[in-house]
Amino acid sequence: MYSFRIIGEEQGCSARLGEIHTSPEAVLTPAFMPVATQGACKAISPLDLRRLGFKVLIANAYHLYLRPGTDVISSHGGLRRYMSWDGAVVTDSGGYQVLSLAKSRKITDEGVSFRSHIDGSEHFFSPATSIAVQESLGSDVMMCFDECPAYDSPYEYVEKSVSLTTRWAKLCKQAKQDGSGALFGIVQGGVYEDLRTRSAKELVDMDFDGYSIGGLGVGEAREATYEIIELCAGLLPRERLRYLMGIGTPADIVRAVALGVDLFDCVIPTRNARNGTLFTSHGKVVIKNSRYAYDRSALDDNCSCYTCGNFSRSYLRHIFMAGEILSLQLMTLHNLYYYSKLMREIRESIEKGTFRQFCSGLIDAEEE
Ligand SMILES: [Zn+2]
Repeated sequence: MYSFRIIGEEQGCSARLGEIHTSPEAVLTPAFMPVATQGACKAISPLDLRRLGFKVLIANAYHLYLRPGTDVISSHGGLRRYMSWDGAVVTDSGGYQVLSLAKSRKITDEGVSFRSHIDGSEHFFSPATSIAVQESLGSDVMMCFDECPAYDSPYEYVEKSVSLTTRWAKLCKQAKQDGSGALFGIVQGGVYEDLRTRSAKELVDMDFDGYSIGGLGVGEAREATYEIIELCAGLLPRERLRYLMGIGTPADIVRAVALGVDLFDCVIPTRNARNGTLFTSHGKVVIKNSRYAYDRSALDDNCSCYTCGNFSRSYLRHIFMAGEILSLQLMTLHNLYYYSKLMREIRESIEKGTFRQFCSGLIDAEEE
């Protein structure tokens, strides 16, 4: 079961408030998905994700197919039960990971043969394989198997890659079984406007449940990223969900919401937390900085998370410098709380019609 409906729109920009219905959960959008690539969000439990208000997370077909293997996860009744997560699950097809992580890969019209980045074993991923893996995980929203070219690929290469992504999208649609999760097409085309346009139109003609904008945030100039997001969002049907893959500083998120994006995932909040970089209402804090050695104040005096309510900057710095695992947990909790609150504030401001003011305030603060 899957449906998406728009329940509010901001005047003067393309931001919209929406609601995804999946069998485990209704999810209000714009929404952010914590990344649980291997079936675990790093340094935080599913219970804490739930307490922070997250209702959907994203896992990865390539990683889970290689390890522990889909037979293991199926025997537990799917990923949700395996990892004890009661919310919705979105899965990425593995297209990006096959191309970025796997070794000695060979791409044909039928799929990709590759060696595992874990043990060198040989595998072949076709669009049908990717869908079967995602179905066995019990995904609520699956992605088509796509080819994501490097950002500096020449036009001719990206043109072929768009053709292949369209071909594979058709095969994914054919492979999908009745009653399994929703299936999204992924718009590719690098930084080339005509190829993005072609990719979006070909996918829209196939009528997917929703659409993802892929292949961005891979090294291209920031302004090109936003131009492509705007172009793609404008080409996709208004009534279908739009998911921007892998991009998401707070400023990126508000800018993309203004362009009509509904769903996000990004490793930034969790990865930055583990590097000791925290998002706060006063800007970024790099906790290892010696200026915090005697700082008795909370990480963010405007934050109501467990970390900010109980520990000083001095203590967080100390346990980070001492390599205590607790520091990764406390800082991950804070950064994800910050993202959860950000998404809630975005939704509330769209509801009140004040999103554009909210947006400009936040972007100015971050870019100072
Ligand atoms: Zn906090």
